[in-house]
Amino acid sequence: MAIDIEQFAAIYRDLHEHPELSFAETRTAAIVAAELRAYGFEVTAGVGRTGVVGILNRGSGPTVLMRADMDALPVREETGLPYASVATSTNSDGKVVPVMHACGHDMHVTALLGALQTLAAQDDWSGRILAVFQPAEEQGAGARAMIDDGLFDRFGTPDVVIGQHVAPLPAGALGLRVGPAFATSDALKITLFGRGGHGSRPETTVDPIVLAASVVLRLQTIVSREIAGTDTAVVTVGAFHAGDAPNIIPDSAVLNLSIRTFHDGVRTRVLDAISRIVRGEAATAGADREPLIESTHSFPAVVNDEAASARVRAAFTNKMSGLTIVDPGMVTGSEDVGIFAVESGAPCVYWLLGGADPQQFAGLTSLADIVEKVAELPSNHSPLFAPVISPTIEIGVAALTTAAREWLVHTEPAD
Ligand SMILES: [Zn+2]
Ligand SMILES: [Zn+2]
Repeated sequence: MAIDIEQFAAIYRDLHEHPELSFAETRTAAIVAAELRAYGFEVTAGVGRTGVVGILNRGSGPTVLMRADMDALPVREETGLPYASVATSTNSDGKVVPVMHACGHDMHVTALLGALQTLAAQDDWSGRILAVFQPAEEQGAGARAMIDDGLFDRFGTPDVVIGQHVAPLPAGALGLRVGPAFATSDALKITLFGRGGHGSRPETTVDPIVLAASVVLRLQTIVSREIAGTDTAVVTVGAFHAGDAPNIIPDSAVLNLSIRTFHDGVRTRVLDAISRIVRGEAATAGADREPLIESTHSFPAVVNDEAASARVRAAFTNKMSGLTIVDPGMVTGSEDVGIFAVESGAPCVYWLLGGADPQQFAGLTSLADIVEKVAELPSNHSPLFAPVISPTIEIGVAALTTAAREWLVHTEPAD
């Protein structure tokens, strides 16, 4: 049975127009819960604060964990779409910020709902579906919150974890990478302490802005000078906050860093180098107080299990027509979906769902041209990121359904 695309396009547009920040996905969670109940799932809301769990138990057979994330980002939408978001929300610092589904999690929710409706309507399988709609992926906190709230103790452990992320590949393409697929993500908050004073009398102060600026520049040498050319790492200073007035040298400066790596050894090396540089620059500046380095999140690489990925890839090839499957290489983006697999011991298969308008790729035949085009298109987190509704939803639904059926046991329809 195919989904009614109008029904799910309407759900998508509604979610897109009403995005919610991490751990504030209450409206989204209510929509998800109502849909799941309508399909016949047993629903538990409020798992890991705003997460929703749906269970469909059809007797003996494996448990398939199907996961979608629900949160949006503090980005002002500039797509100009008729269903563009104009929403604002108060973030955890009490600041009013614009909110947009700039990462496409609204597509993940919609496609998973479509797949669950499809599977619920099929009567030729046995096994168990554990549908997980998680909050706060963007903070790397939602999967952890659901597990800490007893996800596996209360609802059982899965035999496989599957999910997808929409990306600016052409709609009609899926990207599946075997092995390390998405990077380990670490976020650090670094507070550098100086000695504040009057802007006209620098000699009485230790200026934390100059200290922090020096740290920012020196951090750039980690990847270029300390990591092998054959290894991959990203060190980004995404926020730099200090001071309030031109004539006051502040007491402290705060940097927020995002670090992406694929291997434990490289990760340790990068984190050690950051600590050494921050402490070294503080000492050079004559700061009397040691800097404070705090981890604000840390979650593992998404590693796609070799055997399980081969199984899903074969099913995509054999059961979905007109599809292109590509190996997107290692993605320096990160995903906390890997925590569900690591914590339950189940294999993970997580793929990229093409969401870019295929028209954009018309006439391009060489892989190099297509890759160049993908790089030109607005990417996830851009205020212009706008997946096409169709056929992205249909393909997302079919991919999830097809992958889940690989584990659910085929039975004769009961008629
Ligand atoms: Zn994102
Ligand atoms: Zn995302």
